[in-house]
Amino acid sequence: MITIKTREEIELMREAALSVSKTLGIVAKEIKPGVSTLYLDKIAEQYIRDNGGIPAFKGYGHKKNPFPATLCMSLNAAVVHGIPNDKPLEEGDIISVDCGVVKNGYFGDHAYTFGVGQIAPEVQKLLDVTKESLYVGIEQMKSGNRIGDISYAIQQYAEKHGYGVVRELCGHGLGKNLHEEPEVPNYGKRGDGPKLRDGMVLAIEPMINMGKRNIKFLNDGWTVLTSDGLPSAHFEHDVALIDGKPEILSSFKYVEEALGI
Ligand code: MG
Ligand code: MG
Repeated sequence: MITIKTREEIELMREAALSVSKTLGIVAKEIKPGVSTLYLDKIAEQYIRDNGGIPAFKGYGHKKNPFPATLCMSLNAAVVHGIPNDKPLEEGDIISVDCGVVKNGYFGDHAYTFGVGQIAPEVQKLLDVTKESLYVGIEQMKSGNRIGDISYAIQQYAEKHGYGVVRELCGHGLGKNLHEEPEVPNYGKRGDGPKLRDGMVLAIEPMINMGKRNIKFLNDGWTVLTSDGLPSAHFEHDVALIDGKPEILSSFKYVEEALGI
């Protein structure tokens, strides 16, 4: 069932989303060669708890192997769901940081891929195109359209640049649960899928590979990797449909301020 949110609920969700945005901003300031993802995870958790939130990913998933950290930290060929560790980041790495927060009983879920120090121009292009594909998808979240219009737009944009679009993982509805209906694939056909309606809130999150779209799973039960070992990028926003138009509840403002871009 797709839940429709009231304006009051959307305002509460905006708070949850912005709490994630600010956390990403805090993390952005600290990303540099020599810093470990475990350290970044610790400061993120501290910031979230100090500001009245609860890390949403910690303990998420299967009882036997719950996700152990506040941030998903996916390095280079890792697509998503990487587990923070004590290995220092190196110049030229890219790191996708995905963060979830529960606040006021609602979830925020939002991600950004960072370069560590100087990165190769072709890797920077992957980051730029993936971020652009997110906005190209968001533009399609309007009355009269369907989920497939978002999916199609993202796929076309990424593939036009020769990139692989991950199919096994997708965006989703968001609310009192981290993953609600509908699924929001990053590939698809125009006019397919559920109709978009006012009050829907979606986490839209293209996962784009520099090479082929295929993925594999690491034996830690979480980390998703590109099959060909080439880098992958991931950007995610929480978006509400209000008066027929998309309104982005999360914001990259804090990250961009931290990075000076
Ligand atoms: Mg996420
Ligand atoms: Mg998500």
